[in-house]
Amino acid sequence: RLKEGRALAQDVWSIYNAVNLPPDCLNLGQGYMNFAPPLWIREAAEEALRTVPANHYSHPKGRLRLREALKKHYEADFGRTLDAETEILVTSGANEGQYSVFVAFLEHGDEVILFEPFFDQYLPSVTFNGGVPVYVPLHPRTAGVDKPTGHDWKMDVDELRRAITPRTKMIVLNTPHNPVGKVFTRTEVEAIADIAKEFNLLVMSDEVYECLVFDGEEHVRIATLPGMWERTVTVGSAGKSFAATGWRVGWLIGPESIIKPTLAASTRIVFCSNSPLQEAAAAGLELSKAHNFFPTQTKEYAERREVLIKVFDDLGMKYTLPQGSYFVLLDISDLDIPDDYPFPESLNGRGRDFKWVFPSTRPPCSIFSPHSPRACWFMAMEIGVSSIPVSEFYCEEHRNIGEAYARFAFCKDIDTMHAAAERLKNLS
Ligand code: GLN
Repeated sequence: RLKEGRALAQDVWSIYNAVNLPPDCLNLGQGYMNFAPPLWIREAAEEALRTVPANHYSHPKGRLRLREALKKHYEADFGRTLDAETEILVTSGANEGQYSVFVAFLEHGDEVILFEPFFDQYLPSVTFNGGVPVYVPLHPRTAGVDKPTGHDWKMDVDELRRAITPRTKMIVLNTPHNPVGKVFTRTEVEAIADIAKEFNLLVMSDEVYECLVFDGEEHVRIATLPGMWERTVTVGSAGKSFAATGWRVGWLIGPESIIKPTLAASTRIVFCSNSPLQEAAAAGLELSKAHNFFPTQTKEYAERREVLIKVFDDLGMKYTLPQGSYFVLLDISDLDIPDDYPFPESLNGRGRDFKWVFPSTRPPCSIFSPHSPRACWFMAMEIGVSSIPVSEFYCEEHRNIGEAYARFAFCKDIDTMHAAAERLKNLS
């Protein structure tokens, strides 16, 4: 008998995936790059493969070289000395790190606060570990705003407070935010911190887009606020930092009281992370200053963002200007889709046999009745640019908020961004 529930339904990334879309469709959907990490980082990976130890298990904490590089990289940001033995844990991507935190800390029935929209992976990571997600939506107060930004997606502190119960164990914060691109303000982060302290909660701060903050915005690390280090674990990612999403190298930074049980969990889940690519990630951090890597990368992403928003501006379409991460939410509430437009259930006959590439025994697509998933499918097929339906980042009850948006990722080279912009002009 199969287990029921959304957590095991087919994920949105497998549906709006290149393998299910026309071959020439430009992927602005799933957030990975169409360019490789810099050569000097890839060379470090090759170099690591030439050594014997880097082809074998790492210590479950992560390779010392990477932990030392992380320590050096983050100490100033965190405003404290970091112990590479007890306060840093290398994980198999940020996802596994977060999952391990839930394994380590959630007991059956413990509640976890998720701000909506939320990166969809959080939900199964919580529920698989007996946790209960409690949703606090960010409210898009964009009506009448000429050029909405991430700041216009408002957190209601009273709503957050009301969501806390005696079973609340943890708040998940994601800043810069996927999919909104919101960089939480210092005031907002302080409000979350105050609530975490008042109710004795843990905070998991997913900061995988920390290196992509635009327009001089301030990235506030909740772990650095007074009284927060003890209760916060911060999540980072080599994939996002170095355009290496397939490497599956991430990290957690936090107090020993959080890292130690999480290490125990992670050791039993994956034992250790990919060894040679940890060496390469270490080289990325060690040499980033010499290559002026992060400022250059941010500038390149800002240029890609410009290309995308210009086409939406020219079309007179409304979107949320992201202050961080690499996503733009386009308001697609007025996009007309023909009633008889064929969606996947009836896609055979469109010149190729449609087949779910990851066959699931569960129907993937209650997902195809609402507006946002239909609009994203329609745009991928007819405009040739894929995006992700934002309704997927909501619980069922609040899904309606997400129906108005499609998420476009701008982590693609500038030529691809221009080509996508050219096609998106056909949305007019
Ligand atoms: N984090 C990426 C995104 O939001 C990829 C997610 C995934 O593939 N699981 O697009």
